[in-house]
Amino acid sequence: MKKGFLLSLLPAFALLATGCGDRTTGNTDNHQPPVPSREYVIVVHGGAGEMGDQADNPEIAGKYYSALDTALNIGRDVLDNGGNGPEAVRAVIRYFESNPLFNAGVGATISAEGYFELDAAIMEGKDLSAGAVAGVRHVKHPIDAAYAVKTASPHVMLSGTGADRFAEEQGLETVEDNKYFATPKTMKWVKEFQAKSKKNGTVGCVVLDSEGNLTAGTSTGGMFGKKWGRIGDAPVIGAGTYADNEGVAVSCTGHGEYFIRHSVGYNLNARYKFLGESLEEAASHIIFNELNREEGNGGLIAVDKDGNFTMPFNCSGMYRGYLYKEKGTGKVVEAYGINDKLIEKQ
Ligand code: ASP
Repeated sequence: MKKGFLLSLLPAFALLATGCGDRTTGNTDNHQPPVPSREYVIVVHGGAGEMGDQADNPEIAGKYYSALDTALNIGRDVLDNGGNGPEAVRAVIRYFESNPLFNAGVGATISAEGYFELDAAIMEGKDLSAGAVAGVRHVKHPIDAAYAVKTASPHVMLSGTGADRFAEEQGLETVEDNKYFATPKTMKWVKEFQAKSKKNGTVGCVVLDSEGNLTAGTSTGGMFGKKWGRIGDAPVIGAGTYADNEGVAVSCTGHGEYFIRHSVGYNLNARYKFLGESLEEAASHIIFNELNREEGNGGLIAVDKDGNFTMPFNCSGMYRGYLYKEKGTGKVVEAYGINDKLIEKQ
């Protein structure tokens, strides 16, 4: 009798086991078809927000297009010369940090106390190794400090004076005067204390390199007039920055508090990896459904393990661009834009 009862359970067990197996396969099968034709993919952003009519002003738009083009081609040079994803991401972000157009490094926005306090992070998908710095005031290139945290410390995130000291100990270039990061524009805001001023221009870069490794990096001065040592999403691994070789590499820009609450980086990777959504479906859901329900303005750039990429934003614009190299033909495809329209480089 007992044996009969146990036997009668067997089909149900078999059914459950098959169901689990199917779900696991389904997760991968549901992904967009692979794009094996791409040797590498580089996607960059230079911040999202309300852009006004910038895209219609040839002089302003031209400056941003040229910066995005330069950034993408810096990444391309690194990869074409045998460099890997992390090297490309760092080179691209170092360039953005030197360009006063962007809210990262020189040109960063300023805190309520009148300091430039910079955040940056980098993550590698092959081993989930990550490094971040928050609120640094003296490191010339916060992205390099983030990388040093990843490679030369037992930690993931360092902040404030400790992070500055660590960077110096690592031999990274530092600037004594915090005003090194100032531009005439930021100083004008401070004088007039335009509390509504928001400098768009956080920067980010995600790369799928020819080894199949994903890397993500982000760097920012944060939000204008931030107080009390506020830290945004950019250096928070799993919020503004995330990379996983079994999923996606992602870098975010926008109102950081919302990106932290929604763990956007990890959320995107989880939807893709565990729900089997395509990269575009997963990213659109987060940007247009989850963040839009609140005041979570912003956008993200992401590339998946198969070379698909996406760049959604829920505000009027996002400086952004992509460049990929086709396998076999060696053809390079590049485009950038500010608003809905993307300009393909010929
Ligand atoms: N996400 C950045 C922060 O909240 C700001 C931005 O991307 O504009 O610090």
